[in-house]
Amino acid sequence: MSLLTVKDLYVTYGSGPGAVPAVRGVDLTLDPGRKLGVAGESGCGKSTLALALLRLLPASARLTGEILLDGEDVLTMKWGRLRAVRWAGASIVFQGAMHALNAVHRVGDQIAEPLLVHHHLTPAAARKRVGALLEQVGLPASRARAHPHELSGGQRQRVMIAMALACEPRLIVADEPTTALDVMIQAQILRLIERLVSDQGIGLLLISHDLAVLADTCDRLAVMYAGRVVEDGPARAVYDAARHPYGRALSAAFPRVGDPASRRAPRGLPGDPPDPAALPSGCTFHPRCPVALDTCATEDPPLLRAAPGHRAACVLTPGSPA
Ligand code: SF4
Repeated sequence: MSLLTVKDLYVTYGSGPGAVPAVRGVDLTLDPGRKLGVAGESGCGKSTLALALLRLLPASARLTGEILLDGEDVLTMKWGRLRAVRWAGASIVFQGAMHALNAVHRVGDQIAEPLLVHHHLTPAAARKRVGALLEQVGLPASRARAHPHELSGGQRQRVMIAMALACEPRLIVADEPTTALDVMIQAQILRLIERLVSDQGIGLLLISHDLAVLADTCDRLAVMYAGRVVEDGPARAVYDAARHPYGRALSAAFPRVGDPASRRAPRGLPGDPPDPAALPSGCTFHPRCPVALDTCATEDPPLLRAAPGHRAACVLTPGSPA
């Protein structure tokens, strides 16, 4: 059984004629010890998907489908069970640790809180565990006494990772965990996450707009556009030989190490993702697609198997049902 299975997930904000579909029919699976990257521009539904996995969305969000965590559907869990699962089953690392951490409390107390609440440790045992967690993420245990503003951006993000690991979750969802960091610290944090995931057999769902970072870190990638997965497959195959024009555009948007031409002139994609409240007809990518056909304005292609383990939703990529 997979650690995480998302089946036909829809997330819609509001209802009636003004309803806004943010996630549309997403299917994903993730096994223990594996790393799945979710890519796409801002506004494509990645963060809504991340928050939906632990039902952290506002009350205006309606969710349908299934989110199976070790076979148990998060969408039908009672509140008590959900609270326990949010730390011990799965945890989230957000972008921008300065905003996610409480500025007036010492970071050690913030890491200790879930240990006291969910694992019922004594204060002394929690302090000892906090020290071990900080050392695990490369910080001295003494930093537990620091307030968030006394730490650098990279140190704060390490604290967030220590918090996420505190209750030994089976799944970590990391939403743009390194976007606010400089390149050197970003690389350190990504290597740290990778090591912890493989050492502890945790499943990682890593969200980023940066396909290169995901390809370097993850086993598999899913590319989202306008709330749908339009391509998924082995990470290197999606990055190096994307089957969907949007996947190709994302891949070309970042300079490649060892390729001076791409470093000098990375190719962007004109335009913006569509407003989820006013999605184009047919393939939602057609207004920006450089190879669109006339039929693309009316035909919405399904996600089909284009190669072993590799699917794409494009009329130009012949495939078969997976
Ligand atoms: Fe482009 Fe058409 Fe393929 Fe959509 S279906 S990605 S518009 S070629």
